[in-house]
Amino acid sequence: MSKKYVMGNQAIAMGAIKAGVNLCCGYPGTPSSEIIETVAKYNKNGKIHVEWSVNEKAALEVAAAASYSGARSLVTMKMVGLNVAADPLMSLAYVGVKGGMVIVVADDPGPISSQTEQDTRMYAELARIPVFDPISPEDAFEMIEEAFSYSEKYHTPVIFRPTTRIDHAYAAIDFDEEVNPASYEGFVKDSKKWVIFPRLSRMNHEMIEKRNPKIGEDFSSYKRNTVEGKGDLAIISSGINYQYTKEALKAFDRDVKLIRIGTPYPFPESFVREALKGVKTVLAVEELEPFLEQKLTELVGIFHLDIDIKGKRSGNAPLAGENSTDIVKEMLEAFFAEETLEELRVKKSKDNAKNGNAEEAGIVECGAESRPAPPMRPPVLCAGCPHRASFYAVKQAMKGRKANFCGDIGCYTLGNAMPLDMVDTCLCMGAGINMAQGFHWTNEDTVNFAFVGDSTFFASGMTGVVNAVYNDADMVLCVLDNSTTAMTGHQPHPGTGINMMGDVVSKISIEAILKAVGLKKVITVDPLKLDEAVEAVKECADIKGVTAVIFKSPCIALYKPEKKFEVNEKCVNCLKCIKEIGCPAIVREDGKVKIDTSLCTGCGLCSKVCPMGAISAGGDKNSAGQIKAGGDGNNKEDK
Ligand code: SF4
Ligand code: SF4
Ligand code: SF4
Repeated sequence: MSKKYVMGNQAIAMGAIKAGVNLCCGYPGTPSSEIIETVAKYNKNGKIHVEWSVNEKAALEVAAAASYSGARSLVTMKMVGLNVAADPLMSLAYVGVKGGMVIVVADDPGPISSQTEQDTRMYAELARIPVFDPISPEDAFEMIEEAFSYSEKYHTPVIFRPTTRIDHAYAAIDFDEEVNPASYEGFVKDSKKWVIFPRLSRMNHEMIEKRNPKIGEDFSSYKRNTVEGKGDLAIISSGINYQYTKEALKAFDRDVKLIRIGTPYPFPESFVREALKGVKTVLAVEELEPFLEQKLTELVGIFHLDIDIKGKRSGNAPLAGENSTDIVKEMLEAFFAEETLEELRVKKSKDNAKNGNAEEAGIVECGAESRPAPPMRPPVLCAGCPHRASFYAVKQAMKGRKANFCGDIGCYTLGNAMPLDMVDTCLCMGAGINMAQGFHWTNEDTVNFAFVGDSTFFASGMTGVVNAVYNDADMVLCVLDNSTTAMTGHQPHPGTGINMMGDVVSKISIEAILKAVGLKKVITVDPLKLDEAVEAVKECADIKGVTAVIFKSPCIALYKPEKKFEVNEKCVNCLKCIKEIGCPAIVREDGKVKIDTSLCTGCGLCSKVCPMGAISAGGDKNSAGQIKAGGDGNNKEDK
């Protein structure tokens, strides 16, 4: 046993190992990605099967069979991934499991790195499966073992729902590195149990509706549903918001009860009723949906309790976005003053204006101490990112032609930023390929492009390609193949030739898949060979049917640049390099264009854009062609 200082996701993985998990699988997605990586790191004896599955649906189905066999399984994803896994989730809730199954779904209030502010508690209720809400990495480490036990006790998958601030917080954990998964029976055939038919569904649905109140009752004595303090005012909270509230309460000298809900669904009604005894008003402090608020409303209605509920609906909590200790402090201030947040803010603003404090009147929302806002750092493709060259090549090829550019989820969503401006739509994983087809059927005389990364192609792009070929659409698929899942931390995928058990496996060729599916043309090109890339796009755009350009060049995080580029004396300050490609390494200093060599990765794209030949490889202006990683870009190897 040794103490380790780890992030929340690592603590979750370590808790699952401690719980004797047999199989772990998932799909990368911030803020959940480090869980699988941590299990793989400690799985030195290979006793746990660990995998990055091609997507969340595949992961959940792999885990379902393991749990049917009596093994303990852990599935990880971010909340939007649960949409992909929703089909098996809904059925699995009805069928149930034998070995414990914990589905870790990381929610992302803000959102900080997601498309939506989806609340997994709503999914848990929809699927009728229990959900666990940890308040810290230490809590998560202990709680996940309990989640496995409840899963086995009630033969149901359970959801474990950390949010970003829990996933990314750090704490010291006592951990025994030895991996000893629990033993299990193996699959015992029983078609009346494991084959979902309408009759079985109806029976199991009724069973679940009768069972869940019992789980709620069981949760009422669960040690992570707690109440502290006294008085006729109460605050109900869960997860990181419980921590914000505890901290914020220190600023007020008020008697108040603080109720922590560790299991939002099924709601521990008896516990909450008991905790609310003597309470006249309760404030729900939570992010995303007003889930606890809704549960309180039901409780108060069913039991005719004389309790006033404050929260998002009453204007006492922000409707969207992430909370913080300061925001919760402001919520408490309004709550104690019996005002809404809006009323409090208006009053503060007027007071500040009256006192001549113009800045506070208009800007500072809460908190005694005002801090300068951190500088804005807009998200941008890295200097030397091969996607920049791919987008630029398509842009050049389509000059003077009407074209729609459908983006997707990955680093390349950042192709929407100026000056590239090459992402017209972005909806969800894999959507761009189908959307390009929709544009084809509804927009005459346009060339319709879909950009998809290599990992996304395997996760949810392939079916869209089949749809396009089958329905005879005209579109150009651009696969931005950087040989990794870059955005979530460079995880391997089926095209990289390595898996999470550390095995070297066959690389699945995207080019071979596209040819097998029957595309009219498939061209693989290095985007840093700009002229060839432009020609490839033009050729594909002129062919009817589905064609593809595979832009193959590794993410700059996968190789070490050997040379940097510099602006030389031929520069006429035309700014074309800045205005057309937007590489963050190219800057203006004292009115002159310069390359920040601490950022430049030597991709050489700018040297091809410059009309004056004013950008060359640093140190040796004639050696660009010899540079391995980048250089003039003509000899980059796939790693
Ligand atoms: S070579 Fe040019 S485009 Fe490439 S990273 Fe360096 S400055 Fe940016
Ligand atoms: S991490 Fe890699 S793929 Fe993502 S923006 Fe940077 S270079 Fe491009
Ligand atoms: S494109 Fe070339 S000439 Fe124009 S500013 Fe950039 S380096 Fe100078």
